Amino acid sequence: MLQITPEDEKKPDTDEAIDDAIYCAGCGHLITRGRWRTAVDGHGHVFFNPAGRVFRILLFSEAPGIACQGEPTDEFTWFKGYDWVYALCRGCGAHMGWRFTGVDRPPLFFGLGPVEIHCELMRAAAA
Ligand SMILES: [Zn+2]
Repeated sequence: MLQITPEDEKKPDTDEAIDDAIYCAGCGHLITRGRWRTAVDGHGHVFFNPAGRVFRILLFSEAPGIACQGEPTDEFTWFKGYDWVYALCRGCGAHMGWRFTGVDRPPLFFGLGPVEIHCELMRAAAA
């Protein structure tokens, strides 16, 4: 079990913080919800990009607060058979992760979390 020490300093100022909503840490925009977490092919969701940086992401089947940017590509894709585009916060444009689309099931999912929202995501995941 994850041990999460609550830190109230960055709590959104609404009661919605106690549900499974996951917000952008930068602007407070609702990104997704914990109930939409999903798994694809049993991945551990820890990845390396071509520069060797480690990314840990969580997967979601829906993310209404995400705006996608770019043309789908399978270059360096983490999920075989899936193309990706950048997933940005609709509120402030911060990079939240990636949207993956492919022909396998599921046909679409989001991988979110290596940047500022990581901490918020993990807190939500542990709730
Ligand atoms: Zn934002």
